[in-house]
Amino acid sequence: MSTSGSTVVSPTLSDGGFASWSKRKKDATPLLRRAAVLGAGTMGSRIAAHLANAGLPVILLDIVPADAADSRASRGQLAARALEALLKAKPAAFYEPSVARRITIGNLVDDLGLLSDCDWVIEAVSEDLAVKLGLLSRIASHLDSNAIVTTNTSGLSIAAIAAGMPLKFRERWFGTHFFNPPRHMRLLEIIPTAESDPAAVSAIADFADRRLGKSVVYARDTPNFIANRIGTFAMLTTVRLMQEQDLSIEEVDALTGSAIGWPRTGTFRLADMVGIDVLAHVIRNFNRTRSSDSPALELPGWIETVLGRGWLGDKIGQGFYKKTGKDEQGRDIRLALDWKTLDYHLAGRPKFPSLEMAKNAESLPERLRMLLAGDPRKDKAAAFYRPLLTEIWNYAATCLPEIADNVVSIDRAMRTGFNWELGPFEMWDAVGVRHPGAADTIAFDTSLDTPGSVAQLLKAGFSAWYTDDPTVPSGRRFFDPIAGEMRPVELPKGIASIAHFRAANGIVRHNPGASLVDIGDDVACIELHSKKDAIGDDIVRLITQTLKSESDAVHNFRGFVISGDGTNFSVGANLMQLLLAAQEGEWDEVDLAIRAFQGMTAAIKFCPRPVVVATYGMCLGGGAEISLHAAQRRPHAELYMGLVETGVGLVPGGGGTKEMVLRGLDAATAASGISPVTAPARFAQSSEVLDSLKTRFETIALAKVSTSAAEARTLGLLSSNDMITANRDRVLSDAKQSVIALTEDGYAPPLPRTQIPMAGEAVLATLKLGVHFMREGGYISDHDVIVAHHVANILCGGSLTPGSLVSEQYLLDLERQAFLSLCGERKTLERISFTLKTGKPLRN
Ligand code: NAD
Repeated sequence: MSTSGSTVVSPTLSDGGFASWSKRKKDATPLLRRAAVLGAGTMGSRIAAHLANAGLPVILLDIVPADAADSRASRGQLAARALEALLKAKPAAFYEPSVARRITIGNLVDDLGLLSDCDWVIEAVSEDLAVKLGLLSRIASHLDSNAIVTTNTSGLSIAAIAAGMPLKFRERWFGTHFFNPPRHMRLLEIIPTAESDPAAVSAIADFADRRLGKSVVYARDTPNFIANRIGTFAMLTTVRLMQEQDLSIEEVDALTGSAIGWPRTGTFRLADMVGIDVLAHVIRNFNRTRSSDSPALELPGWIETVLGRGWLGDKIGQGFYKKTGKDEQGRDIRLALDWKTLDYHLAGRPKFPSLEMAKNAESLPERLRMLLAGDPRKDKAAAFYRPLLTEIWNYAATCLPEIADNVVSIDRAMRTGFNWELGPFEMWDAVGVRHPGAADTIAFDTSLDTPGSVAQLLKAGFSAWYTDDPTVPSGRRFFDPIAGEMRPVELPKGIASIAHFRAANGIVRHNPGASLVDIGDDVACIELHSKKDAIGDDIVRLITQTLKSESDAVHNFRGFVISGDGTNFSVGANLMQLLLAAQEGEWDEVDLAIRAFQGMTAAIKFCPRPVVVATYGMCLGGGAEISLHAAQRRPHAELYMGLVETGVGLVPGGGGTKEMVLRGLDAATAASGISPVTAPARFAQSSEVLDSLKTRFETIALAKVSTSAAEARTLGLLSSNDMITANRDRVLSDAKQSVIALTEDGYAPPLPRTQIPMAGEAVLATLKLGVHFMREGGYISDHDVIVAHHVANILCGGSLTPGSLVSEQYLLDLERQAFLSLCGERKTLERISFTLKTGKPLRN
């Protein structure tokens, strides 16, 4: 078994310059206790919200409007309005509404004194050099001498903005370029100047990584930095080729979406969402500030006309597309712009045969190879992709080393800032820098000049920018054109993926749904990797066999993490397997499946070694049940967690309802101060038990789903000692550290509980009365009533005398009986089929 562990990292992540900056750090890392954001516009307000999500108190200031009255409220109205808008923002800016209390609002005249105890001040005012210069000189005297000040400019020169400030200020000044929306877009470009203090830079980088969950990439102080520089080139090349090849906006969106690993929306839908004016602004800024050897980017005349007409995209309801209402199924009816006439027509759904074929590819690299292999004389898609991708790849290579140290930074910026599945150099590697069809030329287009970095790569005898190398901690090397050789990709400590451990250490045990992987330091990970993130027999078997007390794994490892590398932890139990068995009336099979699932959650809970479940993305139904049974949870901050079984006409039957009963009763014990041991009947009839069970009843019966880990806590699905990890790439390492800490603290598993005081008949009657009123009010259906009664029955232990003592097994049996009974209901089966077909719940 390997013990190397904690520094081993993902082969798909990269350093982005992080390590070299960390090494330059001189002093102890400055502490960040309080922050301020100047400018409460689109970006400033959302950055403030995300700093508050990270637990910082934040001051948010904006200008005093020219027509403001004398009152404080009127002078501070811009920040106040911004705060109100944040609470309504979609997607949500706050992890949960109460986070807003960490923000103090004010104005940039009367409240500058509030800046004096801020450790980090972020400038996010209008993109205007004069405005930014004026602001810095006004705030300087109010700052603590150690305060770090950064700018969110999208493209102005960082050094130029602070050129007039004293050296002491300039040493603590650099760029922090967030992407919109800052809570959800992972990229943070950090742009130090030659004068920036490395300790200040690395303090912010570290905070952004660990507390804001950002993927930090260091960029040079060049126009539009990295992601926008490459992104705008890609956008304008797409538009130019559309015109040259006489394609429609809808055709281009079909070609430039998930087919090539770009956001599903495609180019123009995305532009509408971002705002066409924002894109135009970035392009104009580049042209204004570019160096003489970077060619200007040209916005086509018809887009200038679109802008002139004020068709800016979604914010005004029309841009490249326009919504005109809903169809019979409630879907948006969308019109698309004809770029030649600037008239709108009903948006088509273009089909390209080669795109349909490429859907069969197993991976994006394989798909890219298929798409680019087509004959451009016959295949419209290949005719478009060949010049598009070749030009983007060549452009990215031309930008080295002007905008970034290496290919790693550029690829990572495009992945985390533009949501490309692969960065330009990674895409290029998929087809080979020296493509078989192109002899000695780069990619396909022989008319392009060979950028210097590409010539060096080929000269050094390589045909790809990256090579795998399990001997280096990241598992990967990249070609460094400056050194003329392959160098290890470096990663901050604690950034890790299961894939790397699999490659480095092999797999202990495996089936199609899950694997047991040695992740070092005597800790193993049960990796969930089923096709549609559903939990089937195979996952149940592997978890149960691994964690039962007599298993080899329990002897060989000191603890376990259950997690995965994908987007979602789990969408729940495999409903297809269940539906087939229920439709065939195979009740014994369904009964066995429930028992097996309960056996798995019991194996997790009573495993002699600590099991930490590290969740992320969707964690629904059976996934949530797995999590509820762990010794500890280590979720990612972005967590969509819920016991959603009632949505498909079922109840949580894998021990999830039982765990909610136990948590409810434990919370009531703490709140009431009544001992459930010495006074079970009094305890069971207390208002605290009623309130606690009622809250949990609502969570289950209404199938509530959290929109963050913080909210999952308020729903009772996580406890206050379950630590939350902000950076998705750190979840695995953090969970492993939790396993180690539990072991070192002398972990002992809980014993099955046998003396659980049930609330019984009185609370059951109250819950049922609530259900009755919901039905009377027309909020729920008759079938919802049946399902809700089953949930209430389990939570109260049935119609028992209050305070009757039962065991965990008793509650599990109630769950199983309810589940089986509901599987026999036609409406439940209709719900399951509908959800399998559409992915949505059916309220029948
Ligand atoms: P915005 O127009 O929404 O907000 C700008 C804010 O600056 C407003 O609250 C405004 O009241 C304030 N302001 C205007 N004049 C001022 C003055 N003289 N002194 C002080 N404040 C003044 O703009 P935004 O989109 O939030 O952009 C803010 C910064 O972030 C810009 O530098 C922009 O380039 C950058 N940025 C924007 C995005 C984006 O997608 N919008 C993304 C990354 C970076």
